Amino acid sequence: MDLFEYQARELFRRHGVPVLDAAVVTDAPAAFAAAELLGGRVVVKAQVKTGGRGKAGGVKLAGTAQEAQERARDILGMDIKGHPVRTVMLTQQAEIAEEFYVSYLLDRASGGWLAMASAEGGMDIEEVAATRPGALARIPVDPAEGVTAAKAAEIAGAAGLPPETVPALVALWEVFTAEDALLVEVNPLVRTRDGAVVALDGKVTLDDNARFRHPDHAAYDIPGEGGSLESAARAKGLNYVKLDGSVGVIGNGAGLVMSTLDVVARHGGAPADFLDIGGGASAQVMADGLGVILDDPDVRSVFVNVFGGITACDAVATGIVRALERVELTRPLVVRLDGNSAEEGRAILDAAAHPYVTRLDTMDGAAGRAAELARS
Ligand code: GDP
Ligand code: MN
Repeated sequence: MDLFEYQARELFRRHGVPVLDAAVVTDAPAAFAAAELLGGRVVVKAQVKTGGRGKAGGVKLAGTAQEAQERARDILGMDIKGHPVRTVMLTQQAEIAEEFYVSYLLDRASGGWLAMASAEGGMDIEEVAATRPGALARIPVDPAEGVTAAKAAEIAGAAGLPPETVPALVALWEVFTAEDALLVEVNPLVRTRDGAVVALDGKVTLDDNARFRHPDHAAYDIPGEGGSLESAARAKGLNYVKLDGSVGVIGNGAGLVMSTLDVVARHGGAPADFLDIGGGASAQVMADGLGVILDDPDVRSVFVNVFGGITACDAVATGIVRALERVELTRPLVVRLDGNSAEEGRAILDAAAHPYVTRLDTMDGAAGRAAELARS
């Protein structure tokens, strides 16, 4: 589960990562009162689970409480990359002298923990990594030792961060391990004009498999708040993993879904999820699956890929047609049916002639179309 910045900030504070005072509000008049309490000069920040809020106009400085109220009014209700802004956070303003980038993450390639840090913080770190890879230090972290002060000094040294950042690096590691996170990222971590080190932004992804150890994390899962699609899917008994692309993928059987992800990627598409509806493909399961996928603002097209084995394609097609009576299809859907009773299934889809549904009979062709629709 990804956290909102204000939730990440709460975990930072709990573990001693320096942050500035803040308040969270959902309407403009409350922003006025909160800004007054914070001293008037504040930053008003959209709370959405996507990056690049600054560039999108979702982060604004305000000099007075009146201005804060106006900025909050501008930002509330904005749409940032498909994420509606329902909440803003107000923080005290920092006088930034230098901006750094720091993250800890699970590096699946090496099967270990990785620290990444850069003296070129504040900007798009993917761009730094792509254009000046030398400016982004990557240091493996031994899980048995973690990030001690000595290790933090090594990370800071490799990235060109000043030694004053060491205590913050150690505290961030504490957030990472104590809260069972898969990612902790701060961009920017800043040094202020008066020499203090402060985390001005925070992204945290918690490991849902460790939830049983953290009853308090349940409070971070806010239904309908761009919230955890994975927990909504879990509640419906679906086998769903959120990915970061734009093609929603549904299939029957984990192996088929895995290869569908690959084929979509080969056509230049990026899968938005893994969703295995398993052997049963009733209207209910299909409606639940489509519901979860369409709740994901990142999804731009949906690909249903079914190979009928024990499950017959006509049952799947009927499931899709019935599901479309319950779920409003707001983005194009590409369906490929093959195997047991494929002809019957295709005929059912054709008869329904839903304007948003395209039927293609090969996995390759259908994946290509879904990837193309996600780009258009
Ligand atoms: P993001 O665009 O979603 O990553 O949002 P950030 O929280 O990183 O804010 C975007 C940018 O706003 C930062 O990189 C800073 O340059 C700027 N910013 C955020 N907080 C402050 C602050 O307290 N003072 C100043 N001067 N700039 C800030
Ligand atoms: Mn940022």
